[in-house]
Amino acid sequence: MRFDVISLFPSAFEALSVSKIWTQALEKKSVELVVHDLRSFGVGPHKIVDDAPYGGGEGMLLKLEPLVAALESIERKKSSLVLCMSPQGETFSQGLAQDLSKIDQLILICGRYEGFDERFIEHWVDQCISIGDYVLTGGELPAMVMMDAISRHLPGVLGAEQSLHNDSLSRGGLKYPQYTRPESFRGHKVLKVLLSGHHGNIELWRQEKSELRTLQKRPDLLESLIAKNTGLKKLKK
Ligand code: SAM
Repeated sequence: MRFDVISLFPSAFEALSVSKIWTQALEKKSVELVVHDLRSFGVGPHKIVDDAPYGGGEGMLLKLEPLVAALESIERKKSSLVLCMSPQGETFSQGLAQDLSKIDQLILICGRYEGFDERFIEHWVDQCISIGDYVLTGGELPAMVMMDAISRHLPGVLGAEQSLHNDSLSRGGLKYPQYTRPESFRGHKVLKVLLSGHHGNIELWRQEKSELRTLQKRPDLLESLIAKNTGLKKLKK
């Protein structure tokens, strides 16, 4: 999987290097990241990348010419998608992260100011993605959020592959509560079933807790979780 990012602030992506999982994935070449500086494709001697919107209104828009030049400078792989970061896009999710992890190359375009000349989105972008219903100053954080979530689905990126499948949302619902040492702290004890060593009972308890937690916090996810757990129980019989 190769990520190409087009951004006016390439140094923002240095923040990713705080994650050991990410740096190891780069070293092992499970992922590749190339950040393209939009400024270097700017127009004229002043490398202009933005201009005022036709018809008036607040702020500036990213101009077409630098965006298209930056995009066309990128060598395309066989399966490749151009994704634009936008609060108007499809909401990013665990399912979408998993689907996108199957593509060879994702080109992520980070907006700034008031966003993009609409012609860029209409003619050069495959899909716009939003990371949630709020407006950020730029597309760099959304691009990093997406790369982090997508790369977790790539083979060899996570140490314990199983942790991905058991994560909240991967199984449809929310993960069960977890505890670690000490067994008792200021009178708060870990439940006996988790100390029992009985794997069948522990698994049953976890499924029940996962369903209860999903019902309480995310009832919209419950149906798909129960369907998956029922499938699991049948398989185990
Ligand atoms: N004027 C735009 C609008 O109303 O739709 C918002 C522009 S926003 C201030 C600047 C840039 O930040 C956007 O072009 C986009 O790349 C990025 N951005 C902001 N919020 C985002 C979100 N929720 N998801 C993805 N990208 C976002």
